[in-house]
Amino acid sequence: MKIIMLGAPGAGKGTQAEKIADRYHIPHISTGDIFRANISEGTELGKKVKKYIDQGQLVPDELTCDLVVDRISKSDAANGYVLDGFPRTIPQAKTLTDAMDERNEKIDYAISVEVPDKDIIERMSGRRVCPGCGATYHIKHQPPKQEGICDKCKKELAMRDDDQPETVKKRLKVYHEQTSPLIDFYRTQDVLYQVDGTTGIETVFCDIMKILGV
Ligand SMILES: [Zn+2]
Repeated sequence: MKIIMLGAPGAGKGTQAEKIADRYHIPHISTGDIFRANISEGTELGKKVKKYIDQGQLVPDELTCDLVVDRISKSDAANGYVLDGFPRTIPQAKTLTDAMDERNEKIDYAISVEVPDKDIIERMSGRRVCPGCGATYHIKHQPPKQEGICDKCKKELAMRDDDQPETVKKRLKVYHEQTSPLIDFYRTQDVLYQVDGTTGIETVFCDIMKILGV
């Protein structure tokens, strides 16, 4: 069960990836986690990654792919895994496919969690976070008891920079340019499955379980 999650930022693919990993006892693999693990363990790949990150540069596709392949070769991933946040671009997807070909492996499911842009903008722009305790709210879906004030510590709620509508729109633009072409890429490989991401966490997960055959 080798799974790739696709979806715009804010579509909820990370949440679904976690649920899949829990349900099927397979690792949830994100590039951020792999980078951190390799850097803290001081591996050869980790040292290379650290150089780029320290210089504020993007980690090159090939190195990222080497790290992903190294991670999916570990014994806990023998029965499968959920890749979240990689690949993000067609060149990354091609590099991953080639690396997996060499090992006689292939992705079994590319699950695209689909949410219209306007819904994502509404979701993100309604999020509020407490600068004191880190509690999160949504002005529409999970409002605090008193408007703008944290229920737990009574501090004034704030909006993350990442959730500002202009930032969200920019990230969506990058997604549509770089990542959404992967939908066609995996469709031609006959492993694409699209789910409606607007129906709520549990319903989306049910739809995914139907695809994976429970
Ligand atoms: Zn608080």
